[in-house]
Amino acid sequence: MYAYRGHLLHISGAPRLAQARENLVSHADGVLVVDGGGRIVYSGEFTGMPAGAEVVDCRPAFLLPGFVDTHIHFPQTYCTNAHGGGQLLDWLERCIFPAESQLAEPDHARMAARDFCRRRIDVGTTAAMVFGSAFPHAQDALFEESLRLGLRTISGRGIQTVGPDSASELITDEHSAIALTEAEIARWHAGDTGDPSTALLHVAVVPRFALSVTAETLHALGELYDSVRSRGVYFHSHISENLDEVAAVRSAYGVRSYLDTYDGRFGPGSTPAGKSLLGPRSLLAHAVHCTDDELARLAESETSISHCPTSQLFLGSGTMPWRRTTASGVTVALGTDVSAGDEWLISRVANDCYKVHISEPGEAGLSVPAADLLFSATLAGAQALGLADRTGNLDVGKEADFLVVDPQQQGLLPEVLAAIEPQDVERLVFTLLTGMRESAITDVYVRGRRLSSVG
Ligand SMILES: [Zn+2]
Repeated sequence: MYAYRGHLLHISGAPRLAQARENLVSHADGVLVVDGGGRIVYSGEFTGMPAGAEVVDCRPAFLLPGFVDTHIHFPQTYCTNAHGGGQLLDWLERCIFPAESQLAEPDHARMAARDFCRRRIDVGTTAAMVFGSAFPHAQDALFEESLRLGLRTISGRGIQTVGPDSASELITDEHSAIALTEAEIARWHAGDTGDPSTALLHVAVVPRFALSVTAETLHALGELYDSVRSRGVYFHSHISENLDEVAAVRSAYGVRSYLDTYDGRFGPGSTPAGKSLLGPRSLLAHAVHCTDDELARLAESETSISHCPTSQLFLGSGTMPWRRTTASGVTVALGTDVSAGDEWLISRVANDCYKVHISEPGEAGLSVPAADLLFSATLAGAQALGLADRTGNLDVGKEADFLVVDPQQQGLLPEVLAAIEPQDVERLVFTLLTGMRESAITDVYVRGRRLSSVG
């Protein structure tokens, strides 16, 4: 057993967003005791620590739960800060589809998998929903590398059955789309332990978005997902990121709302045409332009939203309205959306989250509380990924996914933090979370194992 001594900060228990503040826990001289199986057996004041553990003194570092990135694109590892000359659809055609096509080359795909996983360790993203490559060999490389390094990864190959010429290498026919996804589930869902409840690796069914598939594909995906849902397989896609995209989806399917395409109602006039892809392990990125009815349906079906403010700034998409979306009861967690998001570090996304929502006009604007930002970066992500019984905070019984954050590794951060009254925990959390850079992350642990991005 090891006892990590430092300043513990996390959102304890199993709160919703509205209770995050009252669940904010701080132990300035705290300790996290982790057993040989990687489970937290004590979390609290150092003075109350049980005997028998070897102390690792991390002071003056903070111990935070590992960051959860609920939306990040593996085949866009090398595409951040790409100038597409326009918003979403232009950027996809000019920058992204050509770059993702390069993963057809196996050596390039292996290099991307290695760099992607190392980058995740550098920024402390212990768990992630990873939007995958179209190419099965690239997905194999991603899962193999994630397993080798010890990361918690949910991913699925990006499914496209229609699209522009620039996406031609990413497109398969309907039959192959389903067969390749079934093969990925068979090989990699709980591919490490054989049991989804103990696995670090899980598979998702991932159509890129409604415009990259057809009604036939959605029907077949609905049948497939229905057959694997009970095994803990995930569903992941994008929704309502951009107004041109929303209009194009309505026009292509003749549906009343974008969400209907993922909800089995993709027939003309939103008539039922197949099985729904929504549910507790379904996660949709963006939701910038969702209607109240769509938000209500997401909440009712327990589908979660990945909020990606950094990406939305980069592509000029607007922003997910924070008050209205969270008031609907839907779980909202943060995503980098690399590479439209040009920050890999989830706390930088939390920083943008704060700035964007304080800038929303009129009644919509608010100063998001520090605890809500920490919640959205950690425990809400675990909830969105259906992993909150295993990770997301530093409670006893959880698997020990945590970060050692040493302010001394970042210029002026110790001085900035020292100016805060020690008892003002919310201000401390706000300044640490929105001010920290990756240089301050000195160690990253998943299930008690220290991960290294070197080697
Ligand atoms: Zn995305």
